[in-house]
Amino acid sequence: MWRVFLCAILTHDRGHLMQSARLPDCRSGLHGQIEAWRSEALKGDEDMSVGDSESTGREQAATELARATRTACREASHARRDARKRRRLLFLRGLDATLFGHRMPEAAFLAEQVGWHRDCMDDSCVKCGTTLFRFESREGGCGECRGRRALHEAVIRLGRYAPPLSQWVPAVKSRAWFSMAHHLGRELGQQARDAVYAGRLPQPELVTWVPVHWIRRLWRGIDHAQTIARATANELGVPCCSLLAARWSRGQVHGDRRQRTSNAGRFHLKRGVQHAMARHILLVDDVQTTGTTAQDAFRALRDLRPKSLSLAVCAVSDPPRRNALRASQSTPRGPRWESRGEASGGGSPESEANGPRMY
Ligand SMILES: [Zn+2]
Repeated sequence: MWRVFLCAILTHDRGHLMQSARLPDCRSGLHGQIEAWRSEALKGDEDMSVGDSESTGREQAATELARATRTACREASHARRDARKRRRLLFLRGLDATLFGHRMPEAAFLAEQVGWHRDCMDDSCVKCGTTLFRFESREGGCGECRGRRALHEAVIRLGRYAPPLSQWVPAVKSRAWFSMAHHLGRELGQQARDAVYAGRLPQPELVTWVPVHWIRRLWRGIDHAQTIARATANELGVPCCSLLAARWSRGQVHGDRRQRTSNAGRFHLKRGVQHAMARHILLVDDVQTTGTTAQDAFRALRDLRPKSLSLAVCAVSDPPRRNALRASQSTPRGPRWESRGEASGGGSPESEANGPRMY
């Protein structure tokens, strides 16, 4: 009898039973023990020849106990299955981050969240993309490039190399941030279209990009300039072709301006690109620092006898002397990152980590 009473207590205390059932070693033992108690109780009732009504009540209690046991075991099984799923998902996420890059936020949402917009075209020099001072004339180029001969017609950009662009643009290639590359490419296409309407840029007939060596592309998991260029061409509605190939050279990320200049002569024209002869070509790159890379690519593209060569870049790094002058004239106006980047003398790929992280 006392065993039947104990079984009834266990039936009411379902939480305790479930907790016991979650333990894999104890589950089968508990279930078997309860079944043994149930059969013994029924056998004892038959031996003692108790009344029919009391026997029926004990039978119902034993049936309830068995049902509660089955339910607890089923719930414990589901809990173990969910835990296995969670472990498998965590493993796959870790594997995904290791093999295919990091998890980065969605670019359009991030740009909207921090209130970033591309610069007005009048803010930069049409010949070299350098940020103009208020006292500089928009005609004939800035003080850096006035009187110099260039291979290209115009340079358009999204902004100065300062936060948040100085954090987003390097992250595109170092972290394979495809959504940001697509977003910047679309913005660049809209900027190019506005420049065409304003008469600052010849209507592009072909978009190409500054290539990277295939080993570097394989290592990074992204050809950042190609991804940006395809989004730009898609926005402009013109074809995007691979015209140039890159020779192996020292990386550009860790070199200073003098080392970047010494890397000249590393692009050559691909074979079978005669369809691109005599076109208005728009070259796309992520950052312009000294302009040597773009000029080297333009030098290789000259063999196609293009009608015009133009450059579209996401960010332009101003010369250090202009940054110093701007820092001395910095005002607290403008967005939060603008004043902080200027105050820290930023605006150069050599100092990428200015300002707070914005991704
Ligand atoms: Zn200029």
